Amino acid sequence: ADGTPGPGAEVATHCAYCALQCGTLLRPSGPGVELEPSPDFPVNRGGLCQKGWTAPALLTTPDRLRSPLVRGPGGELAPVGWDEALDLVVARLDRVRETYGPDGVGVFGGGGLTNEKAYALGKFARVALGTSQIDYNGRFCMSSAAAAGNAAFGLDRGLPFPVTDLGDADVVLLAGANPAETMPPLMRHLVHPRLIVIDPRRTRTAEQAALHLQPAPGTDLALALGLLHLAVTENLLDKEYLDTRTTGIDAAWQYALPWWPERVEQVTGVPVEDQRTAVRMLAEAGRRYLLTGRGVEQHSKGTDTTAAFINLALALGLPGRTGSGYGCLTGQGNGQGGREHGQKADQLPGYRMITDPAARAHVARVWGVDPASLPGPGRSAYELLDALGTPGGPRALLVFGSNPVVSAPNAAHIARRLAALDLLVVADLVPSETTELADVVLPVAQWAEEDGTTTSLEGRVLRRRAALTPPAGVRTDLEVLHGLAVRMGQPAHRFPVSPRTVFDELRRASSGGRADYAGISYERLDAGEALYWPCPDAPDGNHPGTPRLFLDRFAHADGRARLAPVEHRDAAETPDTHYPLHATTGRVLAHYQSGAQTRRVPELLAAAPGAHVEIHPGTAARFGLTEGALAEVTSARGSTVARVRLVPTLRTDTVFLPFHFPGAGRANLLTGPALDPVSGMPEFKVCAVRVAPWQEP
Ligand code: SF4
Repeated sequence: ADGTPGPGAEVATHCAYCALQCGTLLRPSGPGVELEPSPDFPVNRGGLCQKGWTAPALLTTPDRLRSPLVRGPGGELAPVGWDEALDLVVARLDRVRETYGPDGVGVFGGGGLTNEKAYALGKFARVALGTSQIDYNGRFCMSSAAAAGNAAFGLDRGLPFPVTDLGDADVVLLAGANPAETMPPLMRHLVHPRLIVIDPRRTRTAEQAALHLQPAPGTDLALALGLLHLAVTENLLDKEYLDTRTTGIDAAWQYALPWWPERVEQVTGVPVEDQRTAVRMLAEAGRRYLLTGRGVEQHSKGTDTTAAFINLALALGLPGRTGSGYGCLTGQGNGQGGREHGQKADQLPGYRMITDPAARAHVARVWGVDPASLPGPGRSAYELLDALGTPGGPRALLVFGSNPVVSAPNAAHIARRLAALDLLVVADLVPSETTELADVVLPVAQWAEEDGTTTSLEGRVLRRRAALTPPAGVRTDLEVLHGLAVRMGQPAHRFPVSPRTVFDELRRASSGGRADYAGISYERLDAGEALYWPCPDAPDGNHPGTPRLFLDRFAHADGRARLAPVEHRDAAETPDTHYPLHATTGRVLAHYQSGAQTRRVPELLAAAPGAHVEIHPGTAARFGLTEGALAEVTSARGSTVARVRLVPTLRTDTVFLPFHFPGAGRANLLTGPALDPVSGMPEFKVCAVRVAPWQEP
């Protein structure tokens, strides 16, 4: 790989997991690395969470995939050479494409892929396969915030300001975010501000808050409308800001008008006094921020809910000012960059829309192809998975960096769809519940074994650096895409294997786009420059990048932000006689995403060994459940089995399940197929369930 260090050299890179992308220093040691946190990287300042500290164990896990595997006639996966595996994949893809056309093949990517891989995967799908059927698991993560941010500001960047700005805040409102559990080093920046936390659960973050609002799952939108109502009726609006920097307050108010505090209390359960205190704290502080997370975004109305919180932020004059702001706490390791470079069903690199003729012409020129040959938009992630093997849907799927058998909603149904494919190819570093269904498994390199870049939640582009070469038998994703593309008749130079070469092409493809990387180079990053996009090309090659967006104007043509007229509606499912409780899902400190990686780290597995369900003691008693017993949790989709954990601070109408665990403990066996109509986000955060003691069959 590019830049592989010499023996014993110290390598500065970033954590394998979440979007905070904490800085780490690696020193090769035997087959693995020794790791310490980077003392200089401003986001983590020498801190790491348990996942970051233990990440080296993933490099030496005995479970590592070390050879391509092909499913034989007896149904077993057996090792084969790379040429045999790639020849077989291309031959079978050709058969599918001949029979069903280019859209007979789908591609499913991941928000943990580096910028280079995300870019190359989008290009491979559109150019080598000619398919429109590409999307990625980031659709399950940040898509509602992206849609709402684009509509409000004309541009979506998770945090439009550096993380370190939060340290100077007086008040921070966190709506549906639990960073004390999901990205603990972020809490170092939230020591001074007074926190307001909106979360149905009393999370580790809520325990540190000055004020915790605990709405019923699925009612955050009503709460956000109510907070705007109070901002108006208590005369807390920033009128000058609204007049000079925004449009839409009158229409937004029409929808907030019916949400007077007592009605909001009735619907959400949040006391009137707490609503009033929250708005006053946020309105009257000097330096204040409003941040959203998956808790308000992962709903069938996630875009509108996020927009309602953005409305509140705009009404109080927060976004686009030094010392204040709105942002979204992006989740996956490259959750920001992964959504900018063409993995999304509707986008080309640089956040360009695939339906825009000028965008198609620009990207086609960089790729050396005819714009007319580029397919149009495809299906969003859940729709793509749901269409697999159906008439008109893909009959073959290539999966890179994702484990949808655990992470997709309605998981049993999606597993059946995957199993019904003519061909399922999965590239991953360790076996997963999705590789168990695959016809071909391709072993790929991981974080400390290859070069590349990621883009953190604050829009800063960071260098991942190789400290080791990949084990024998393992290839990089870029090498895999190259090998497939060449076998499909593509010129070799069109799919380079060098991350630096891919990044240089990505810069050209993004140039002039909304996420413009043209002025960012490996050389500048390696020289230690802190570069935030947009960073366009400059005559002297030294554009400083843009740490803070929107200070003078928002990205809409008129420079103004838009408040959105949004209306509350119920979740797709609400409790009833058969399913009397809300279930909500989320993360625990020890694990990341589907857990395919973190469940292989002994210390993390010991900390959180299996599925559990949190339930209020009174509710548990009503349903005959006791601490430590196994419970069967059942929704209209099916049942999951999890160990009971009694949590007195939980709402009595709600249970919580982490989504990292496989098999019968999958939380996503419960979640439903309802999607946000704008973003395609599934409703991970609420469904209706019943609970009972588990009976052995
Ligand atoms: Fe890694 Fe995120 Fe933990 Fe930092 S907070 S060490 S980036 S998992």
